[in-house]
Amino acid sequence: MKRNSVPLKIRREIEWRFGLGCGYPGCKKPAMDLHHTKRFSLVKRHSEGEIVPLCKVHHELVHAGLLRGEQLAPRNWDLEIEIEKNGAASVVDEIVRKKRRGLRRKGEGGGS
Ligand SMILES: [Zn+2]
Ligand SMILES: [Zn+2]
Repeated sequence: MKRNSVPLKIRREIEWRFGLGCGYPGCKKPAMDLHHTKRFSLVKRHSEGEIVPLCKVHHELVHAGLLRGEQLAPRNWDLEIEIEKNGAASVVDEIVRKKRRGLRRKGEGGGS
């Protein structure tokens, strides 16, 4: 699988720092993605200090713009929304649902 083609050397560095789990403070889930806190498309470089491994949920939250202090070290991160333990998945579901609703707002799915 391609992981943003981050060089192996840097991936090792990241694994050494974060282990194989999500880099979000307190999250015990396995990391699924390597997130570039400075957006690779902008900086055009892979630097281990700007890459954080994240689980699917936290990665979605970051890209949904719900993370405060993204440019800081992960221990300083904070979420814009209150999330109870293990409640993150349902919050993301809600975000995704809202997005989908926004995409097809043609009176479809008037149920809930
Ligand atoms: Zn990302
Ligand atoms: Zn996580």
